[in-house]
Amino acid sequence: MLGSLSVRIDVKDNAAHYTFSGEVDEGFSHRLMPDLAQADTFLDLAQVNAFNSCGIREWVFWIKKLSINTRIHFIACSIAMIDQINMIPESLGSGTIESFYAPYFCVKCGEVNKLIELSEHQVKIANKKAPFFACESCSTALTFDTLDSSYFLFVEHQKGFPNAS
Ligand SMILES: [Zn+2]
Repeated sequence: MLGSLSVRIDVKDNAAHYTFSGEVDEGFSHRLMPDLAQADTFLDLAQVNAFNSCGIREWVFWIKKLSINTRIHFIACSIAMIDQINMIPESLGSGTIESFYAPYFCVKCGEVNKLIELSEHQVKIANKKAPFFACESCSTALTFDTLDSSYFLFVEHQKGFPNAS
């Protein structure tokens, strides 16, 4: 545990996999993170709930250090992670967001978080438009539950992502 954050690390096939869960706060320190020197680094961020200002500073240090030697893949970014990248783009370093959660709303069922694979919705997201989804429970068209022009800002910081058309 690093403060309120738990980190599980697996190394397999020249790749390091980090699975995070909890809050990135003053208990997180880039000095405590091992240097695994793998070609690829996968960060599973689905369970990251919040960042505070101390935590984000350390996170930015860590990502910057990590960016030197490895390709960083951001996987299943939570809404808290995406909000953080939108506010402080350095949180992404040289990383690439491959999938992320986005807030939707079903008029019948309530809030729904959808996991979006960026590669499947590149054009929409490059134009900062929420992809269409139907509710898995009742098939009603879901409404995007925040401002798409703000939520998809992160694509501007993503290397190699196609420009908006
Ligand atoms: Zn529904």
